[in-house]
Amino acid sequence: MKIADLYIRVSTDEQADKGYSQRDQEERLQKYCQTAYITVRKVIYEDHSAKTFQRPAWQKLLTLLRKQKHKTDLVLFTKWDRFSRNAPDAYNMISKLKSFGVEPQAIEQPLDMSVPENKMMLAIYLTAPEIENDRRGLNTFYGMRRARKEGRWPGLAPVGYVNLTSENGRKYIAPNAEQAQLMEWAFKEIAKGKYSTEQVFNQAVENGLVCSKNNFLRSVRNPIYCGEILVPKYKDEEARLVKGLHEPIISSSLFFDVQDILDGKKRTIKTKIFSDDKLPLKGFMACSRCERTLCGSASKGRNAYYYYYHCSSKCGCRYKAEVVNKEFMHFLNDHSLNAKTAELFKMVILDEYASDTLENKEYKTYLAKQLTESNNKLTRARELLLLGDIDGNDYKTLKHECEENMVRTEAKLDEIAKKKYTISQLDPILDDAIFTLTQLFPIFTKSTINDKRRLIGSMFPEKFDFETLQHRTALLSETFERIYLINKKLEGKKKGQKTIKNLLPRTGWLMGLEPTTLGTTNQYSNQLSYNHRVFSEQQKYDF
Ligand SMILES: [Zn+2]
Repeated sequence: MKIADLYIRVSTDEQADKGYSQRDQEERLQKYCQTAYITVRKVIYEDHSAKTFQRPAWQKLLTLLRKQKHKTDLVLFTKWDRFSRNAPDAYNMISKLKSFGVEPQAIEQPLDMSVPENKMMLAIYLTAPEIENDRRGLNTFYGMRRARKEGRWPGLAPVGYVNLTSENGRKYIAPNAEQAQLMEWAFKEIAKGKYSTEQVFNQAVENGLVCSKNNFLRSVRNPIYCGEILVPKYKDEEARLVKGLHEPIISSSLFFDVQDILDGKKRTIKTKIFSDDKLPLKGFMACSRCERTLCGSASKGRNAYYYYYHCSSKCGCRYKAEVVNKEFMHFLNDHSLNAKTAELFKMVILDEYASDTLENKEYKTYLAKQLTESNNKLTRARELLLLGDIDGNDYKTLKHECEENMVRTEAKLDEIAKKKYTISQLDPILDDAIFTLTQLFPIFTKSTINDKRRLIGSMFPEKFDFETLQHRTALLSETFERIYLINKKLEGKKKGQKTIKNLLPRTGWLMGLEPTTLGTTNQYSNQLSYNHRVFSEQQKYDF
């Protein structure tokens, strides 16, 4: 009767059900030995990788077999991959065992090693599981890539979306109502460039967003939110964007605006979310002597706290917060729309809008020109490449640049097309906005500190100092600039549509109106973002 040692190995990817795999192998080996009338001497357990034979239990067994030559006839295992995964190593080990008078054998893949051709079979048995593993990984990889190319999002839905399965069993993602709204809000907030991404994240979480910070930072870079799916670069295939089958949460132009902010391409005035009600202007004001941003703080007097806006340098610039805040309230009054002229104001705007402003057309022409230019540049680059004047890498860089510019310009054009409201759509938006403009003072007084700061942010495109605030010469966003001029004029004399019309901005200043913002909490910032958007956007697209 032959004597055998049983070798049981659990591979690294079986660790989870290690106990089961061990029992299963042992049971099969024991059963085999019973039927084949083989006596079992030892059972060896191993949970080490089969890459080499440098495994603790195996080395121990080997020492024993060397010492006690011819005490054991067989080393048995269930399959060859339990023994080794490397063919040359396995051959060496087999001859070593032979010299100790021991024959290794896989009971489920029996091989007669005296037949040379069986060495080929052995190689297959040893490496097949690994190949299968690689293949499985590769299939998943290609499968995911294919899905992306077809505009499907593979795997777990990003924050703001949910995984769903359609009736025919197809998996897809769809916006997840509240979470989607929070992500939309976050994108808009980042695009304004007033708060850092981290502050926006914290606020979003406070409002109910369920997302980790890292995931959020990754997500705001993911074009999935504007309906595009990124197919990453692989081998000689360049990375590209594919139109997704899912519903976008934000517009492409908003997405790219956010990317510009994150890349630091856009000049931004970052202000902190600050909750001290006594210092609403903190972070918006500059020192009038040295151009630093004024800080705000409280100092403890004998009976109470006194609040100041002050410079952080030694220049000595310091104002009582009470005085500055009061001045700001006067300033607000001077820049509120006069209730008597509000109706007229609205009529003029509607009139202007109906005739699709010349500037809007000009902007469209401008964008179309940009598109052609990018296209020409790309053609030229291709020619230069063919002539050998530039090398492949330079061409790739140029190509990438041109293509990105084209995508962005197209997104802007799309946006303009979408932004065209009918008069009946525009009417209620305008009513709301104009009402706000006539009620700045009371609304401001009742607002939370964050809303107050939003309004201040929407009024001033850059930092202002106390003197310019007092003299009403601080640089203002267009809407407020115009209101102020209208009020000044009306103070003097004659009223009339003509006067107001002449004072209205000449650019398509209504483009900032967004119908989706009606009734939302940040009524100020959106409804009042009549700002000089068209022009600032043109500057941005001077590539
Ligand atoms: Zn200073």
